[in-house]
Amino acid sequence: MSMDRRRPSTATATDADAAVQTAAPQAAAHRQLADAKDSPASVARPKRGVPEGLWLKCDGCGATIYRKEAEEKLNVCPQCGFHWYVSAAKRIEQLLDAGTFEEWDADLKPADPLGFRDKKPYAERIVAEQKRTGLKDAALTGTGMIRARRVACGVTDSSFIMGSMGSVVGERLTRLVERATAGKLPLIIISASGGGARMHEGILSLMQMAKVSAALARYSQAGGLFISVLTNPTMGGVAASFASLGDLCFAEPRALIGFAGPRTIKATIRVELPKGFQTSEFLLEHGFIDRIVPRKDLKSEIARAIDYCGG
Ligand SMILES: [Zn+2]
Repeated sequence: MSMDRRRPSTATATDADAAVQTAAPQAAAHRQLADAKDSPASVARPKRGVPEGLWLKCDGCGATIYRKEAEEKLNVCPQCGFHWYVSAAKRIEQLLDAGTFEEWDADLKPADPLGFRDKKPYAERIVAEQKRTGLKDAALTGTGMIRARRVACGVTDSSFIMGSMGSVVGERLTRLVERATAGKLPLIIISASGGGARMHEGILSLMQMAKVSAALARYSQAGGLFISVLTNPTMGGVAASFASLGDLCFAEPRALIGFAGPRTIKATIRVELPKGFQTSEFLLEHGFIDRIVPRKDLKSEIARAIDYCGG
């Protein structure tokens, strides 16, 4: 597919914005299953008559699911296997051996170099998002063990301005890749970014695509193993840069993965899009990803891939 060959400059802030708008409702619905401490206060309430907190309506099959049961299955619907949102912190907990995660570059915070404002000033938006999610920006990075194998690991979180990549996400990921290169560590990046490049930081966001990709090229030349895990949603400048550059690209079932959202594409090229367009299954069929891995198998599959590749 041409997506991973796009030059960074072909991704405009408008594309990224369109991706934000397209992916937003789906991601918002998935956030309903964030565990209580991670739950943003502003998520959509479940349907009337369904007590909030105890029961959830599945976006995949429409069934009413006992929240605890879904959580025990790593936030996957026990009836149809639909994979809900999990926060970056929860993702680290699910993936890494207990107590092994050591965060890197936790002190990096976003700035507002353009004095950007949309519905509200970007500076205010950042503070509100930080308060709501407990994150400083949309990525968590660090090192830890996966079944006793040391790895460098990064996760983006779609609940922080749609998981979009501004200077902090780009810088944290670049440093992560550079440390993985220096330490000869396998690299795992789990993407959950509906927003692509963050329009609020303009060109400074766009340049992160090239910056992270260049660091990945040096990592690859040094013989490193990069496993990219695409989760729902992975869109825009994130999909068009590091997320597509894995030596192995895994995806969770039924994830929305693409560049511009389906609505934007339909409006631009005026043709009916094929069934299942921009889902993990469609992309596997078309050779864009290597394997669909259910969340319960992700840890084992990554450990296996590391061993297989001699990492
Ligand atoms: Zn379901």
